[in-house]
Amino acid sequence: MKVRNDFTKAVLRAEGDYFMSMGKVYLVGSGPGDSGLMTLRGHEVLKRADVVIYDRLVNDSIIAMIPENVIMIDAGKSSGSHTLTQREIESLMTEYALNGKIVVRLKGGDPFVFGRGGEEAQALMNAGIYFEVIPGVTSAISVPAYAGIPVTHRDYCSGVNIFTAHDKHNLVPEFNNTTSIFLMGISNAKALQDKLLCSLSPDTPCAVIENGTTSRQRVIHTRLDELYDSVMKNHIEPPAVIIIGSAADMSLNWRGNLPLRHKRIIITRPEARAEELSQLLRDEGAEVIIMPTIKTSRIPHVLDNANLSGYDWIGFTSVTGVNAFIESLCESNRDIRELGHAKIAAIGNATRDSLNAHGLNVDYVPEVFDGLHMAEGLVKFGGRILMFRALNGTQDISNIFRKYGIAFDEICIYRTDYVELKHVPEFADIIIFTSASTVRGFAHNINSMRDVIALCIGIQTADEAKREGFTRIKIAEEASVRKLFEAVMSLA
Ligand code: SAH
Repeated sequence: MKVRNDFTKAVLRAEGDYFMSMGKVYLVGSGPGDSGLMTLRGHEVLKRADVVIYDRLVNDSIIAMIPENVIMIDAGKSSGSHTLTQREIESLMTEYALNGKIVVRLKGGDPFVFGRGGEEAQALMNAGIYFEVIPGVTSAISVPAYAGIPVTHRDYCSGVNIFTAHDKHNLVPEFNNTTSIFLMGISNAKALQDKLLCSLSPDTPCAVIENGTTSRQRVIHTRLDELYDSVMKNHIEPPAVIIIGSAADMSLNWRGNLPLRHKRIIITRPEARAEELSQLLRDEGAEVIIMPTIKTSRIPHVLDNANLSGYDWIGFTSVTGVNAFIESLCESNRDIRELGHAKIAAIGNATRDSLNAHGLNVDYVPEVFDGLHMAEGLVKFGGRILMFRALNGTQDISNIFRKYGIAFDEICIYRTDYVELKHVPEFADIIIFTSASTVRGFAHNINSMRDVIALCIGIQTADEAKREGFTRIKIAEEASVRKLFEAVMSLA
């Protein structure tokens, strides 16, 4: 069974427009009820949805997580208390997505286990709508678990089939008409094939999925009498799942057009600042590991007695510095007005935005977002300068001020420390470094992976990566999340 998969988005992407106007539909499994059983990915997309269409089975505790301004449609009830038909639901999703909305189709359990998720995915694919499936914890397995019943146990059974008690045609299901799912089957593929051939036809469809849902995922479609040969020929290794039955012929390949689906990317910046980039990359199919190699902490009481007035320029070199400054003001009972008429400089747009968010306009952002350019700009302006910076950060800025004999003071407002990693990945395709200290933090923990592409936010970071032995270094065009993302896309 082949389904059309020429996504409009793929066409737009081919034209280089990553931020296209069409929306996207997420088919999300909310799990069986307990809100803790919803996936992190499901939660993440729920927080940025424009529209949520939810089913009767979705628990109130999960509906309560939907942000306030989201359009909510109860597919189980709806206006005038008639239940939306399947077709109405599908056209609602399509319409909203075509209008650029992020639509979350929220279902009980797992969307592809008796949730009509398969039908909805087909409808979306046929309509050329970009969509993603976010599996959920199915009630078929989790509800028994909550009742203390393991669905498999070596002493009692060797497998599990999942049936509906009344299927579309109200037939009592027959074994021949079911999907059988085999875990841990690769080393036994030959025996499994022989055994199943006693009762199933040789051309029964089979699929084998290796490393499913990761950047190393491989899928093969075959038939029962060729199962073992296909496994051998394709060098399939565990972990893999074997699926047998006519459903194994389906290929609603929603990941097929995601350009980063084969990329495993490590982001080394602290978690709070990694999220935006991670979401952009994951939306393009990447497997993202947010693995901070540094942590920052505010240095207490630095503003207790510090002089803040009489300066012509106040400079900030990071978002972390801005946040630490604002917190320190509160801690020391100081007032932002003490800065008086000083002008404000920010190293880049993200730092500028965070100053803006605190009601501070920024007078200067260098063309190139780094310390050297910021310092050179300030030297030109002249006047007395106060810099807020990291205790163990780079000395680039102060070195330039000293070189030109500029009067300046600096306050170390936060410190950067290495994270001691307890578990380190063994491989990746790209490692993203957003400062020289993230490179040092990585090197502090990991000796390997020097042949992996090191994508660096700027020249200083790249220099550090070179010093630490990375051989394939790329530099983003500008020190911003957007440019880092575009640099990754250019590697796809
Ligand atoms: N997609 C869902 C199943 C939808 S069919 C899933 O993966 O779980 C709806 C059926 O699921 C219900 O009739 C009931 O049999 C079962 N079900 C879903 N949630 C359940 C729960 N919390 N407790 C018991 N059964 C549940």
